[in-house]
Amino acid sequence: MKKCKNCAKDYEVGIKDFCSDECFKEDIEKRVKVATENDVSHTRKISRDYP
Ligand SMILES: [Zn+2]
Repeated sequence: MKKCKNCAKDYEVGIKDFCSDECFKEDIEKRVKVATENDVSHTRKISRDYP
């Protein structure tokens, strides 16, 4: 029995660490959002340090 990394539901057959394709996609979307937010703050830091 594995546990879904997105919804924490136990599953037998899923995709990678997720119970379904839907949870797999949701996790990717979250990662993309976090990466984008980090990228924005990183860009701001650079523009502040190097005007
Ligand atoms: Zn799930």
